[in-house]
Amino acid sequence: MSIDYHLHPLGHKAGRYTKELLMPFLDEAQVHGLREVGFADHDDFVEGINMESILSLKTLYPDMDIKLGLEVSYRPGREEEIKRIAGMLPFDFLIGSIHDLKGWMFDHPDFRSGYSNWDISDLYGEYYSSLGQLVTSGLFDIVGHLDVIKVFGYRPQGELLPFAEQVLQSISRTDLIVEVNTAGLRKPCAEIYPAEELLVRCFELNIPVTLGSDAHTAGDVARDFAYAKELLYRTGYRRLKGVTKRQSYSVLL
Ligand SMILES: [Zn+2]
Ligand SMILES: [Zn+2]
Repeated sequence: MSIDYHLHPLGHKAGRYTKELLMPFLDEAQVHGLREVGFADHDDFVEGINMESILSLKTLYPDMDIKLGLEVSYRPGREEEIKRIAGMLPFDFLIGSIHDLKGWMFDHPDFRSGYSNWDISDLYGEYYSSLGQLVTSGLFDIVGHLDVIKVFGYRPQGELLPFAEQVLQSISRTDLIVEVNTAGLRKPCAEIYPAEELLVRCFELNIPVTLGSDAHTAGDVARDFAYAKELLYRTGYRRLKGVTKRQSYSVLL
């Protein structure tokens, strides 16, 4: 039994939720024995999401708990717009993610040259400062790919934990759930989000976790979940969090 709360049927293009678009993701989820799935497309494409297709699927997949989520790009100053988007549909959960710093889309291959403008330690400081504001905004249920700033493998000298420590402590004072996201394993950084040393600190701080593949195609649903679960178990985790109508609950890992 497991859950995958980070599926992108729309991917990176505008479109519309239909049964035909969503079903391959659910079929794949069934193959992997998932008990819960959460669609969580990017908020840029929220106009294409509709409840009708979700509801019709619930009758077709009675054994699957199908959630409607949204992955929202957080940037300081966007709070009011995010509140408006959050009210557009009865979302089960909102994932808050950082995809840009002052408009520079640092996680996009087309803008990779931007790294040459930064001292990497300063960049990590800037990223975790924005993430700190995401955490205290109170707008989200889940923190998406917590250390995505490593996506292209740019890492500062020395230990990573000091960059994230304040943010992790801040998360521990909220109800936020940290997402263990396997997409990092498929990126140049070749490492799960968050890195093991950060996950160990999450466990020490009693921060709950959930699981997401960040699948943009059905074939990536639950990808590398055996590895993720083994890592979580080794870290000490025995439970994950699910979320319905923005209320979280505990499920066995
Ligand atoms: Zn993302
Ligand atoms: Zn995503």
